[in-house]
Amino acid sequence: MPHSHHSHSGQFCKHASGSLEEVVLEAIRQQFQLYGLTEHVPRYRLVDLYPEEAGETTDSLAKQFEKFLVEAHRLKTHYASQITILVGLETEYITGQDLDGLDSLLQKFGDRVEYVVGSVHHVDGIPIDFDQITYERALHNFGDGETNAQEVFLSTYFDAQYQLLQRFKPEIVGHFDLCRLYTPDLRFLEYPSVWEKITRNVEYAIGYGALFETNAAAFRKGWETAYPGKDILILNCGGRFALSDDSHGPRFVGLNYHRLLDYLHAQGVTDIWLLQPSKTPNAAGRSIRPVKFEGEWLGHEFWHGRSTQA
Ligand SMILES: [Zn+2]
Ligand SMILES: [Zn+2]
Repeated sequence: MPHSHHSHSGQFCKHASGSLEEVVLEAIRQQFQLYGLTEHVPRYRLVDLYPEEAGETTDSLAKQFEKFLVEAHRLKTHYASQITILVGLETEYITGQDLDGLDSLLQKFGDRVEYVVGSVHHVDGIPIDFDQITYERALHNFGDGETNAQEVFLSTYFDAQYQLLQRFKPEIVGHFDLCRLYTPDLRFLEYPSVWEKITRNVEYAIGYGALFETNAAAFRKGWETAYPGKDILILNCGGRFALSDDSHGPRFVGLNYHRLLDYLHAQGVTDIWLLQPSKTPNAAGRSIRPVKFEGEWLGHEFWHGRSTQA
C-alpha cells in the first residue's frame, strides 16, 4: 500500500547515500506500491553549493540532474512489474535565478519530469535546514528584535513559497513548514500576519489541486510530528494529504512510517491521496493527477508491526 512522493539518492545528491537503484530495490522489498524519485534541481550560483559539493560546478550539477532523469526512467521501466515509479524533482528557491532555471529545465525535459515537489529551503538566499548556525544567520538577517525578526523571517519564507506555487503549481507541496525545523514548538497562530500568508498559500494550493505531503523526515530531525505540524493539519481540513519519506538513501526508505501513521491517525486524517499518470494535463500542464487511495489504508498489512499503537 504505502507510497512515497519524495526521495533522493547518494548517486545524484552529495548529502544522501546509496545508489538510486538501491533505493528502488529497498522500496520494492518493503512492498511500496508507488515510489517517487525527486532529486533536488541543480543550483545556478557557485555560492549556493554546499560544503560537500566542493569541486563541483553549476555545469556539473546540471549534468548530474540530467543523468538522474535518465537513470530514474531506466529504473521505472525496468521494475515496472514490481512497483510504480514516478519521476519528478524537488525545487529550490534561493534567488529568482532558480525559478527562471526551473522554467527552462521543465521546458527542456518536458514529460520526462512527471511531477514537481514544491519546496523552499532558503530564506533571503540563506539555507534554513542545513544546520542551526546557518538557520540563525538567516533569522538574524532580519534584525535583532527577536519577535519581529521571527515574523519577517516566516513571512519571507511563506511569500517565497507562494511565488513558487503560483509559478509552477507543484503537484506536491514539500515539507510545508520547514521554516520551523529548528523551532518545532513555534506556533504560527502567534504571528497573525504569518498565519494570513499560510492560509493564503494553503487555499491557493488547494485551488489548483495540489496535494500536501505529510513528510516523515521530520521525525528523524527530532520532531514529535511529521511536516506539517498539527496547526497546519487542522487548517487543511479541505486539503488533501499524500505520504512522503523524503529518504536520502536506502536506509531511510519508509523510515518512521509507523510514526507517520500514528500521527495521521491521531489527527483524524482519514483519506490518503497519491499521484497517478493521467491522459489529461493538470493545472501545470503535466499529465498526472491525484487519486484517493481506495480501501482501508489504516488497516493495510504494510503497517502491521510498524504502528506503535497497533
Ligand atoms: Zn536533500
Ligand atoms: Zn526538501
